[in-house]
Amino acid sequence: MIKITFPDGSVREFEAGVSGLDIARSLSNSLAREVLSVNVNDELWDLTRPIHKDASIKLNKWDDEDGKHAFWHSSAHLMAEAIESIYPGTKFGIGPAIENGFYYDVDPGDDVMINEGDLTEIEKKMKELASQKNAYTREEVSKDEAMKFFSNKGDNYKTELIGELEDGTISFYHQGEFTDLCRGPHLVDTSPIKAIKLLSVAGAYWRGDETRKQLTRIYGITFPKQNMLEEYLEMLEQAKLRDHRKIGRELELFTFSQRVGPGLPLWLPKGAQLRERLENFLKKLQREHGYEPVITPHIGQKELWVTSGHYAKYGKDSFQPIHTPQEGEEFLLKPMNCPHHCEIYKFKPRSYKDLPVRLAEFGTVYRYEQSGELHGLTRVRGFTQDDAHIFCRPDQLKDEFLKVIDIILYIFKTLDFNDFVTQVSLRDPKDTEKYIGTDENWEKAETAILEAVEAKGMETTVEYGEAAFYGPKLDFMVRDAIGRKWQLGTIQVDYNLPERFELEYIGADNQKHRPVMIHRAPFGSMERFVAVLIEHTAGKFPLWLTPDQAVILPISEKFHDYAEKVSEFLKNYDIRTLIDERSEKIGKKIRDNELKRIPYLLIIGEKEQESGSVSVRRQGEGDKGVMYLEDFAVFLQKEVRSQLETIESDV
Ligand SMILES: [Zn+2]
Ligand SMILES: [Zn+2]
Repeated sequence: MIKITFPDGSVREFEAGVSGLDIARSLSNSLAREVLSVNVNDELWDLTRPIHKDASIKLNKWDDEDGKHAFWHSSAHLMAEAIESIYPGTKFGIGPAIENGFYYDVDPGDDVMINEGDLTEIEKKMKELASQKNAYTREEVSKDEAMKFFSNKGDNYKTELIGELEDGTISFYHQGEFTDLCRGPHLVDTSPIKAIKLLSVAGAYWRGDETRKQLTRIYGITFPKQNMLEEYLEMLEQAKLRDHRKIGRELELFTFSQRVGPGLPLWLPKGAQLRERLENFLKKLQREHGYEPVITPHIGQKELWVTSGHYAKYGKDSFQPIHTPQEGEEFLLKPMNCPHHCEIYKFKPRSYKDLPVRLAEFGTVYRYEQSGELHGLTRVRGFTQDDAHIFCRPDQLKDEFLKVIDIILYIFKTLDFNDFVTQVSLRDPKDTEKYIGTDENWEKAETAILEAVEAKGMETTVEYGEAAFYGPKLDFMVRDAIGRKWQLGTIQVDYNLPERFELEYIGADNQKHRPVMIHRAPFGSMERFVAVLIEHTAGKFPLWLTPDQAVILPISEKFHDYAEKVSEFLKNYDIRTLIDERSEKIGKKIRDNELKRIPYLLIIGEKEQESGSVSVRRQGEGDKGVMYLEDFAVFLQKEVRSQLETIESDV
């Protein structure tokens, strides 16, 4: 008999050789139907693989990432089988599960093309194969056997991969007529794969190397139920309409220029002003929380980055050092703002009474990304972090954490990100060697984070072994209006940089001590945050933030002068307006502007001009009646203030 430990800590005995599926069956039939994979001592296993020794296990269903992963990875094999049957002789690269679905990189041969138009046929074949309920079976093979199998098949991609594997660690998976080199795990059989959609075809260099052959990458997604697929496809449609690149163009917020360079966003006037409003909003919040602004240059001497350790990380794989006419001088575009801030901390001696020191900067950084990886404002080569570094005593860590959490929660509330989760990343308790800093400090920091999260009553998951080598961290993930998850806001503890920069303060004991450093960026970066905000709101920003708050619609040319007057009047109240001076009928003007994302429509004619008023319509709410100009200005200002204030009392 062996002892099986469950996630809740309970232990049950089973006969040696029991499988995850047997265990699920012994618990309940419905569980056995839903379970997709099993973690055995933190390793992902097939449900049918026998367990011979005492182990702790976790049974994964669809809602567990590891369950979905097995499902989608098995679907990749199924797609490969379908492709092989339709395009015999196809060679296969890699076919992993990804965040949403899976892909496979395939080489159907030089004179064969697989296009989007061919996907339906592959899908059909997949459905046919799935319904055959073919088992996924694992076979451990020697390196020689593996090599022989794929050489015979003529698949040079697989043989290249096998060449890099160690003998004794290699396994095949079979299902139906198909065999793949794979570590697994997979579903028991193909039958749970009920709903299938192949989504797109793209080119992908073998192993991401531009000098090697371009393979055909086919993306797909599968679900255990048809309605889940339909919901997903509906979400994709919604996502297309919300694409921040499309809306950014329509609202004239930002653009890119091939001449300026890929991944380098150009903020247009309306975008720059929107960004400025966001920055001012955060600056005010930070002032209230005791932050001090600093400004640092965009470059720094190479030595600075060697000291900080960033050169080792970014030196070779990012922008290369800049050389000057002076012999031996080398500068690096800054990939991070932290080293500059460390030097600001150091410019004078600090006492324990001076701490915490909170230095804030909207700091622009540059990191190289492959051009194929660039995407709108979410993957760029130059971006501005809403960065700050807090230098504090170890005993201040929890308080500082709470204050940063307050700022982040305030931002989420103001901008309507009401659905979010947090993740605490801690040390791997089994391997504490690889982390810098004393055990005592780590324990203090980890406890501080966990207590802070608990004090705020936030939903959180704790991941062991996910901490950076230099400190634990807290991440915020928001779910947007159509259910997509975005990583925003990070709070990161750091014991490494204070060490490397020899940061000190004089303690109450008159001795020198090392401060702890916290890196934090509630938005993450201005670029990414604006992108997420656009996709979350579909470009309908809250009134305080939106580029144009009201559009003035004169019913005929006769009232253009009055329109100008209204616009000037409202400008004095900091209200942003547009005038629709087209000579269209008023009905059409209203309809056209209702399609735009401007919150208020102000209609003016004879009556309004005579009385110094406007007829007000609110998008989505309709007619609000006639208001005197001043009343409307006060009314709008009040709405703006309420958006920014109702929440202030909570902080
Ligand atoms: Zn596989
Ligand atoms: Zn930093």
